[in-house]
Amino acid sequence: MKLTKKKFQTDFKNRLHEKFAIETVDANAQELFESLGSVIKNYISEDWRDVRRYQMENKNKTAYYFSIEFLPGKMLRSNLLNLGILDVVRDGLSELGLNFDMIAEAEKDMALGNGGLGRLASCFMDSLASTGLPGFGNGIRYKYGLFKQQFIDGYQVEFPDAWLQSGNIWEVRKAHEAVEVKMEGNVWLKEDKATGNFTPVYENPRVLRAIPYDTAMVGYENGQVNNLRLWDVEIPESEERKYYSINERRQVQDITGVLYPDDSTYEGRQLRLVQEYFFTSAGLQTIVKHYLKLGIPLDEIHTKIAVHINDTHPALAVAEFMRLLIDEHKMDWDRAWNATVKTMSYTNHTILQEALEKWPVDMVKFLIPRVYQIIEEIDRRYVEEMSKVADPEIVGRTRIIQWGQVHMAHLAIIGSHSTNGVAKIHSDLLKDVVLHDFYVLFPERFNNKTNGIALRRWSQISNEPMSKVLDETIGKEWRADASKIKLLESYADDKKVKDKLANAKHQNKERLAAYIKEATGVEVSPNAIFDVQVKRLHAYKRQLLNLLHIIKLYMDLKENPDLDITPRVFIFGAKAAPSYYFAKSVIKVINEVGTLVNNDNALKDKLKVVFLPNYNVSLAEIIVPAADVSEQISLASKEASGTSNMKFMLNGAVTIATLDGANIEIRDAVGNENIVIFGMDKDDVYAHYYAHDYNAWGVYDADPIIKRVVNALVDGTIPNIVREGQEIFDTLIKYNDEYFNLLDFHAYVAAQEKIDRLYKDQKTWRKMSLINTANGGQFSSDNTVKKYAEEIWHIVPGK
Ligand SMILES: *Cc1c(COP(=O)(O)O)cnc(C)c1O
Repeated sequence: MKLTKKKFQTDFKNRLHEKFAIETVDANAQELFESLGSVIKNYISEDWRDVRRYQMENKNKTAYYFSIEFLPGKMLRSNLLNLGILDVVRDGLSELGLNFDMIAEAEKDMALGNGGLGRLASCFMDSLASTGLPGFGNGIRYKYGLFKQQFIDGYQVEFPDAWLQSGNIWEVRKAHEAVEVKMEGNVWLKEDKATGNFTPVYENPRVLRAIPYDTAMVGYENGQVNNLRLWDVEIPESEERKYYSINERRQVQDITGVLYPDDSTYEGRQLRLVQEYFFTSAGLQTIVKHYLKLGIPLDEIHTKIAVHINDTHPALAVAEFMRLLIDEHKMDWDRAWNATVKTMSYTNHTILQEALEKWPVDMVKFLIPRVYQIIEEIDRRYVEEMSKVADPEIVGRTRIIQWGQVHMAHLAIIGSHSTNGVAKIHSDLLKDVVLHDFYVLFPERFNNKTNGIALRRWSQISNEPMSKVLDETIGKEWRADASKIKLLESYADDKKVKDKLANAKHQNKERLAAYIKEATGVEVSPNAIFDVQVKRLHAYKRQLLNLLHIIKLYMDLKENPDLDITPRVFIFGAKAAPSYYFAKSVIKVINEVGTLVNNDNALKDKLKVVFLPNYNVSLAEIIVPAADVSEQISLASKEASGTSNMKFMLNGAVTIATLDGANIEIRDAVGNENIVIFGMDKDDVYAHYYAHDYNAWGVYDADPIIKRVVNALVDGTIPNIVREGQEIFDTLIKYNDEYFNLLDFHAYVAAQEKIDRLYKDQKTWRKMSLINTANGGQFSSDNTVKKYAEEIWHIVPGK
């Protein structure tokens, strides 16, 4: 958009007066931020309205992305960048004597997600708008986002994230678009004698009012504004019932109260299922309502609407859509089923068994009786139809209802036309192992869409020093077209360019060092190697392997303080699910190792260990640009894709990695010589599974180095970890090290030694770093959503 500094300053000052009746000099950061946000929202609203109108008039096909998590982080900078007014606003504020960074800091992170899954959803929202695609988000407006993490005595302590307390400047409440969601009670089918149709009759249902809050998703300099719709719950106003007790009110409010702090294990709580149905039903109801306004027969709904099921949490969409078509709109079953399958598509995000959602039949029946009837009928017909053409045993294994449980992934696959994995290796594992039976029955439904990242946020917004070097070297086209970053590769041997990039990296490291000092009190040198592992804390991601190597390094340095290594700072960031004891113990032990080594002068500052509390998107934006080494060390086959691996390589970090998830595609992009790969690959891992031949105790007992390192967990080497050290020791030795940390240990140590050697040769290192950045463009989520659009949703750009 076109905006002069003058106009902006006038708008801004007026808004501040209007809202708070004060002058700029008297306003605090929160007041300044709210006024600024409100001005920006106003700038967006015209385009927002126009895009909506255009959508209606041109009847464009739209994709609806259903996700129980969105993790946008802060939105101010991103909106300004995408509107093309970041510099005007920054300069305008500066002339008024105001510091933009300080104002931007006042925005609360919108943390309605746990990690990768939610962040992906938000990267997709940005990319859909930025590629001009009509793609809308549908989720939940949790009152409390993911908990805030603090360390007390080295332990993780969780505090509520009341992000809405001072309001949310970006959202618009759309009360007139509220819908009712019915749950519980009894349902029976009443026959209409004249037509032979059955109508469900609801007795004593619990009726909830779903209120949408819309947030504009602004495209990058293209005038496109899409919509992220998050649902809140309210008590319905009705004539029959006006009085609700405090308890009843609370029970309703709980539905959108908290985001479950758990992104990969089965959450057994009933409330979670209520959440899943609530936002799925509300979203689908408005979609059907909107579609009917277009005046096209319901049979053709899939020509105008695509519904995407992001992981299984919204998989009830299949049955709920059927309910809407057959119950509310009187379609016959076969026509409704045809439309449903063509409308729905599904992304699988994990192969971890414990994370594949299953719900007890009794719970589903009680909470959503009519939907359960429909699921039963889908299942019955599935068995009947498929048994005619396929092996009955395979059909039996792929049923939706089995052993008293509803299998959400089965419902999603059977009720949709597309199932995709999120990296090549992951999609292959789905076809070959995890969902092999389904692949045999529906090979044409399976495909791969490798994840991506919103490149603008992870370069232009978070890494201005590097972005400037790119501008000076290859021009500015890369800012709009990520594929142009590849032009940087021809400067791989240009010392000047490499020095400039190294200089930018150093600036970012200084910024992070200052943050570390402020947040933890630990002093680190920007001349050390910054070695980073930031991601949710989970056994399969193997923060423990990193820790074991650090313990070894510590012991080596204690033995020989003159050991010739480049000083290294190991930086962690990770939240553990509050009930995940192993993960919390790993945090405690890393913190205690940190206290031990950071205060040991004998180590001559060659080793520091820092665990930054409360890892979130805003913290990632400070950490990622400052990393020299990116730790992507999950057990091969377990990390579906990973996306932080992409953020880091784009920012010039060298990856130390197993051949897992998108690490493999990163290796293919940068070449073997520009990444450090180690350890077992997925075939090695599966070979051990089939042979049942891994004996962790045997490895431990036969290997003095491993023994010494593992014993450090229990022999007092590390103070204050009696219980936690023993717990981790037992996980490794007594419970046979489920994620093969010990099997990969020596390969990992060797890979770390290789990192040290490579870093000493700065000429080579800087070239590696440059080549990583140069190949980051291919992981832009702009590319990813274009593939979804072409191959799954069949939508095209156009306002
Ligand atoms: C990118 C990102 C993730 C995902 O990290 P992985 O290493 O891919 O698991 C998680 N949390 C935040 C805040 C992120 O920005």
